Amino acid sequence: MNMIVDGWFSEISDMWPGRALSIKIREKLLDIQSPFQHIVLYETENCGKMLVLDDIIQFTEDDEFAYQEMLAHLPMFCHPNPERVLVIGGGDGGVLRELSLHECVKHIDICEIDQAVVDVCRKYVPSLSCGFDDPRVNVHIGDGIEFIGRCTDCYDVIIVDSSDPVGPGIKLFEDPFYRAMRKAIHSDGIIATQGESFFMHSDVVCDLMRIARNNFPITAYSYMMVPTYPGGTLGVCLGSMRYSLSEPCRKPTAAMQAKLRYYTSDIHRASMVLPAFGARLLEA
Ligand code: SAM
Repeated sequence: MNMIVDGWFSEISDMWPGRALSIKIREKLLDIQSPFQHIVLYETENCGKMLVLDDIIQFTEDDEFAYQEMLAHLPMFCHPNPERVLVIGGGDGGVLRELSLHECVKHIDICEIDQAVVDVCRKYVPSLSCGFDDPRVNVHIGDGIEFIGRCTDCYDVIIVDSSDPVGPGIKLFEDPFYRAMRKAIHSDGIIATQGESFFMHSDVVCDLMRIARNNFPITAYSYMMVPTYPGGTLGVCLGSMRYSLSEPCRKPTAAMQAKLRYYTSDIHRASMVLPAFGARLLEA
């Protein structure tokens, strides 16, 4: 549920009991019920546009770059030549925008369950949905679980930009899906998934990393600062069949780095150095 009191949107959820981020709203731009979720788009006072799915904030334009850049570039710079990439979820287009910076990419599939999310973001949030303009992008509307089940040895990198483990996203956080991703990537492939927050969802993070370790020989957990997300942090769970995840084998060109506002090779390495409680959590 969420509340709007005196123009402030408060994100109240039992996923983070007893806490709520509040953001000042200027205007509600859209409020629809798709076959999968309740979709609301706001213009905020200070954070640009804000997409809310089933009462959970998906992004604000103010700081979405932190998350989109890390989720996309962490796996991409760990692979020497990622040509074929799959995105599951990501219907706002932000991860696609980041992937389009990689000239080595030849083919991108994106499987988003909700056409309405794509339509809303294409109409109202071009700063993210510009990612759909890349001619290498092929859009599939459907359940990522079903899509990945049809893939064997197809991709160099798979990125799961899903909502939280609620509603249509639940099965994207479970072992069968990670097994299917392992089958879908090449023998030297890499996967990266939306990894929640070890401040707010330590149980989910532990489960994710256990599932990743059961399916991939090399795993890592990275975290970044995103003020809009609960606890101000979000993580990325990574799995690799061969290449190091903590030491990128490629780095942004000067021209690419000039466009990036969060990712650098240094922050890549640093983002996997966890605070004591986080390291203990993931060692357990
Ligand atoms: N950055 C956001 C976050 O970290 O919470 C995620 C953004 S993106 C809007 C999440 C997308 O995942 C939504 O568009 C949602 O429709 C999609 N999604 C959820 N479950 C899915 C599934 N099973 N298959 C494909 N897409 C799914």
